[in-house]
Amino acid sequence: GLTVRTVSKSFGRTTVLHDFDLEIRPGEMISLLGPSGCGKTTALRIIAGLESPDGGQVFLGDRDVVSVPTNRRDLGMVFQSYSLFPHLDVAANTAFGLGMRRVDAAERRTRTAEALRLVGLEAHAERYPHELSGGQQQRVALARALVTEPRLLLLDEPLSALDAKVRVQLRDQIRQIQLRLGITTVFVTHDQEEALAVSDRIAVMNEGRVEQFDTPERLYRTPATSAVAAFIGTSL
Ligand code: ATP
Repeated sequence: GLTVRTVSKSFGRTTVLHDFDLEIRPGEMISLLGPSGCGKTTALRIIAGLESPDGGQVFLGDRDVVSVPTNRRDLGMVFQSYSLFPHLDVAANTAFGLGMRRVDAAERRTRTAEALRLVGLEAHAERYPHELSGGQQQRVALARALVTEPRLLLLDEPLSALDAKVRVQLRDQIRQIQLRLGITTVFVTHDQEEALAVSDRIAVMNEGRVEQFDTPERLYRTPATSAVAAFIGTSL
């Protein structure tokens, strides 16, 4: 699991996170949901080690990883923009996730093929990014994130560049893969419908902290604050 404890972060005089807490069980998929600017991406970047908190702890399992660099945190990430390498084919983009790891060529091929099968792109291994749709490109990004079999998957608005139909398809596919692997997953979105559809629990954020962290059903039925109610789409 993942535990974030009293994390704070400011940029200059802007406080982005304060007393940010989160406790995620192993195998759970949760969403960080909230309006633009509430600190979702900053929270995810701190979990990933791409940003240092001003204070607080981030535990992966029982280890505080605050001073552990990103590439040693055993996590995979997918961002909003596809960020594939245009000059590498699908297999090479996927294998890139293995980075500098000491795996021989045969194992590299096996793992790459497995990751591509997981996202349903095994037939497209030799294509280049420009030959793929946006949804397919994001599936390659997902394969690249999963190829190392990480303990934690971090997804930052991975669907927001896609059109509505593909967005729903990929959303459901991500959830199926997550359940099949049982991988602990944090999904950042500003879209409540998306969060309700894929999450075991949702952390509703407002102004740099978690307002309520609960199952979709309980958030909907018993919102703790009017901000949660407004954002989930019910009235108190
Ligand atoms: P969005 O959905 O718009 O990305 P968000 O909830 O993910 O919003 P963050 O990206 O975490 O929010 O940003 C929260 C606040 O921190 C914003 O006001 C943003 O301008 C500010 N911020 C983020 N990164 C930096 C930075 N590197 N330097 C200065 N300010 C920053």
